[in-house]
Amino acid sequence: MADEKNRRIQVDLSGQTAIVTGASRGIGKAIAMRLAASGAKVACVARSADKLTETADAIAAAGGTAEVHPCDVTDSAAVTKLVEDLAEKWGGIDIVVNNAGITKDTLIPRMEDEMWDAVIATNLRSVFLFTRAASLVMMRKRSGRIINISSVSGLMGNPGQSNYSASKAGVIGLTRTVAQELAGRKVTVNAVCPGFIASEMTDALGPAILDEVKKRIPAKRLGEAEEVADAVLYLASNSAAYITGEVITIDGGLTP
Ligand code: NDP
Repeated sequence: MADEKNRRIQVDLSGQTAIVTGASRGIGKAIAMRLAASGAKVACVARSADKLTETADAIAAAGGTAEVHPCDVTDSAAVTKLVEDLAEKWGGIDIVVNNAGITKDTLIPRMEDEMWDAVIATNLRSVFLFTRAASLVMMRKRSGRIINISSVSGLMGNPGQSNYSASKAGVIGLTRTVAQELAGRKVTVNAVCPGFIASEMTDALGPAILDEVKKRIPAKRLGEAEEVADAVLYLASNSAAYITGEVITIDGGLTP
């Protein structure tokens, strides 16, 4: 019987370049490591330089190539400059994974302006900023992959997450529109909607809530960051060239 590693999809991304936002931990780190292990040169983006360096060191230790680019993904000028600089240095950008995200949960009567604005800026505006900058580069090359990490909250809603679910539903709308705009230039744009994935974001829910959550998930477990990374790797591959504007849910059967 094939071992666990051999059952995972294998894709050759040699010679390709990728930007992964939110690569300092959790799902973004797993995605950066998976793309790099498949041969891509990966620019790891987040605010914490120290944590990004840990990701880049882990990639290098596994034989891959990564660069550290501290950047606040809500900063329009910084994002535009980063994408332009990388495109010039690398001669193009093949893959962008918009993964950076935050939560600031509370019920709607208590939702403060700052909580709303911060979540929309980090989870939605950032996707717009990277997509706008990368689209120019990718259209010129007539190839590219943009993969946006949304959430099942953006599909189903989730009490306490009006800001978060609005941002993630926005990502899906953005994905479907830009997919139509760029399809003629052979640039695909897709979204991935994770359910509950083991990470610092879900750790914050605490063990009691997580036990309740697991009971609601038909698969009876949280997902692994690597399982999200596998879907991203597939969408980044040549095999997914005819898939665009699609939303892939990875949630152990949570959404009907
Ligand atoms: P984590 O909280 O573990 O990681 C979030 C990442 O985003 C970090 O690398 C963080 O780095 C980065 N980030 C946050 N704000 C900014 C910013 N302003 N500029 C740059 N980087 C930023 O989250 P997860 O790994 O759990 O989640 C990753 C993505 O998956 C998110 O979009 C999340 O909404 C989505 N998701 C997660 C689910 C889960 O169950 N975990 C379920 C569904 C979707 P730093 O703080 O250093 O800037």
